[in-house]
Amino acid sequence: MNLLENKVCIITGGGRGIGRETAKTFIEAGATVIIADFDDKTGTATVDKLGGQCSFVKTDVSNEESVKELVKSVKEQHGHVDVLVNNAGILQDQTLEKMDEEQFDRVIQVNLRGVFLCTKYAAEVMQEQGSGVILNASSVVGRFGNFGQTNYVAAKAGLEGMTKVWARELGKYCIRVNAVAPGFIQTDMTAGMPEKIIEMMADKVPLKKWGQSEDVANLYCFLASDEASYINGAVLTVDGGVVV
Ligand code: NAP
Repeated sequence: MNLLENKVCIITGGGRGIGRETAKTFIEAGATVIIADFDDKTGTATVDKLGGQCSFVKTDVSNEESVKELVKSVKEQHGHVDVLVNNAGILQDQTLEKMDEEQFDRVIQVNLRGVFLCTKYAAEVMQEQGSGVILNASSVVGRFGNFGQTNYVAAKAGLEGMTKVWARELGKYCIRVNAVAPGFIQTDMTAGMPEKIIEMMADKVPLKKWGQSEDVANLYCFLASDEASYINGAVLTVDGGVVV
């Protein structure tokens, strides 16, 4: 059985990393996927690779007009929006004393405001149809903090709070809202780290290794499907046990 047969799914930041792997997994599960990414090059390259069930809409999740246009175009083209994966995210790490206002604001704009905007407009369509699934990309650091990540941790902790608010507000429309909190996952976001740090981090994980994008994509796929129809307002970790 195809878990996501006939589901229309928007994946923000789907041009690379966990988002691209999620797009691939969703398509294999029968979904039609719309990649909403900032970058034309990675967006179109991903669509070329993944084929006919996939399209690209250039989107800046932190810009309200861009998000409105995205949701409008998906509604016009496909008639419904079944799943939104708020995956787009950025890092601008710096210790508190060195982090400036601009670095703080930009990460909040993309990682928190972007999730608010995409959910606000996708949920309007989902309310009309009386169904939908919203999945938010958190991180284990949202709960445990991390050195040099004031902005990122603030956004992820805020996103977990919003997940719980929306699970309450939207439940009556049969819209489920959950968050996924990955641990150390090997993607472009983490590729620039020194080898020594990568090994040190792996050693902190009970499974003694980093996770892969497909580990996160598989959880998104399950949560997006009707198999997860009674899971709402949860934050699920995919972290090899690092937070135990
Ligand atoms: P990634 O490889 O850096 O990919 C992020 C994607 O988001 C990129 O395609 C990027 O586009 C896009 N993006 C950035 N700003 C955007 C905007 N304003 N509008 C639309 N798209 C935008 O990241 P990843 O490692 O796959 O992470 C995906 C999500 O998982 C993020 O929310 C991240 O915080 C979370 N996460 C990751 C890890 C990990 O270890 N990798 C752990 C915990 C949580 P560009 O190509 O233009 O930059």
